[in-house]
Amino acid sequence: MSNEQFTPQAAFTLAELEARFPPRDLPADARVTRFGPSPTGSMHIGGLYTSLVSRRAAHQSGGVFYLRIEDTDKKREVEGTVELILDSLATYGLSPDEGEIADGKDVGAYGPYRQSERVPIYQSCVRWLLEHGHAYPCFASAEELQVLRDEQAKHKVPPGYWGSWAIWRDKTQADVDAALAAGKPFVIRLRSAGGRDERVTLPDTIRESIEFPANQTDVVLLKADGVPTYHLAHVVDDHFMRTTDVIRGNEWLASYPMHAEMFKLFGWEPPRFAHISPIEKNDGSSRRKLSKRSDPEASVCWYMEAGYPRDAVTEYLLNLIDGRFEDWRLANPGVSNEQFQIEIERMNRAGALFDLAKLDSVSRDVVGAMTAKEIFDAALIWGSDHAADFATRFGADPAYSQAILDIERHGERPRKDIVRWEQLPADIGYFFDDTYAALLPEAQAAFAALQPAPPEGMLAAIAAAYDPALNRDAWLEWLRELGLGYGYAPNVKAFKVAPDEFRGHFGDLAGALRVVLAARRNTPDLCEVMQVLGKDRVVARLNAAAAW
Ligand code: GLU
Repeated sequence: MSNEQFTPQAAFTLAELEARFPPRDLPADARVTRFGPSPTGSMHIGGLYTSLVSRRAAHQSGGVFYLRIEDTDKKREVEGTVELILDSLATYGLSPDEGEIADGKDVGAYGPYRQSERVPIYQSCVRWLLEHGHAYPCFASAEELQVLRDEQAKHKVPPGYWGSWAIWRDKTQADVDAALAAGKPFVIRLRSAGGRDERVTLPDTIRESIEFPANQTDVVLLKADGVPTYHLAHVVDDHFMRTTDVIRGNEWLASYPMHAEMFKLFGWEPPRFAHISPIEKNDGSSRRKLSKRSDPEASVCWYMEAGYPRDAVTEYLLNLIDGRFEDWRLANPGVSNEQFQIEIERMNRAGALFDLAKLDSVSRDVVGAMTAKEIFDAALIWGSDHAADFATRFGADPAYSQAILDIERHGERPRKDIVRWEQLPADIGYFFDDTYAALLPEAQAAFAALQPAPPEGMLAAIAAAYDPALNRDAWLEWLRELGLGYGYAPNVKAFKVAPDEFRGHFGDLAGALRVVLAARRNTPDLCEVMQVLGKDRVVARLNAAAAW
């Protein structure tokens, strides 16, 4: 039992803690922000959203963004979550400046950064509260608490452990000693000073200030195992880690009066608070919270597996954070989104509405603006984590892979067909001989079904005459003329004027070539595709198909 785990001895005085964690040496308006996930098995997209705001706000003010692992609830902890959190943050460019950065190693002078390793700090603070009459041990059993709730319901008074309902609040030292001697389990509770009629005001950074009735609950500070509740840990940590801005989910709004009271009792200046609403999605005609259980896109893993590029997710989230981002992006093409100034004050205060179609459209633009090399690097990293075969093929000849990605990437309107890396293995598979070979049965079936059927000898003739050095105009002219000899009108218009005189038109010819060379009907610009495939592959594929 807790008597051993929670020896009511203070490991440190508050003065020692103040000296060990001094105010940070930062410019006056620098923000210190944090991300405080509980490692319960997943990383929610909301965590990325919060981290993005927090990190940018810190960096743009010359401050610090740190990661604190809130692992005081060991029952809910799932192994591997911290690695998952670090990986998610790193993938989306949000690695913390301080905290557990990798492999259990802490960086920064305000640690340890895992709450489970800070228990002596919490207990020392609780000891101080006990000594100053602001806390007391409570030995009430689960049954006694149930009786209390039933009584409160019967008398229609607000539920909870407060005022004269708080059984152990005013017990004598003799009662406490007897319970301790009997080895009864106990928790430590706050002795709330809140009068029933007092009010506290929260000047929330992103909302109108909110007025609450003051706290009057004798909230649990330390559980029976000596480990703190969120309430105590939050107040102690955000004070001693010198957080200036707590950006957290609005599920904590209701407990703000409790936290405010604790800051006051300790005599600490509270940080600023910004409570953000959960991300929502449209579900039929209503809106609801994006839920871990029913929405795969609630989990950051989903984006990582699909290979949404870092900047796509970032820019999409920036759109959700501040409606002005879209205009900024249009006005500043090619500028890094890091230049967009985040203002916590202007953050979307209603629940941001999640929309995957919008994410895809942002992603098309983002990938459209990337160079082939940038795409190659990012997609290769994605492949090594999520598609090993593809990564091997794709990484084997970087120049070839980049040439593939470079098709239609120049000029006025660069291609916008790539949304996420997961589509690449299928989209560009035909450029690689082994994946092309696997597609052959499909290609042959499609070839056999072509209307009009390509005439004898044409493919071999194209193979024989193909010159990859021809530029696009010259290539068009050459192929149109060659096609004409086999009955293909040079364009649709000419075909429509005299359909009986032609086998088909140039589009039909190009379609047949695509089926043969790429095993699909749609490809980017055919002239470029053939150039990148190279003369050898083009000739080999055409000649092989001549026998189909
Ligand atoms: N561990 C808390 C949570 O996951 C953190 C809340 C906070 O940021 O203060 O909700």
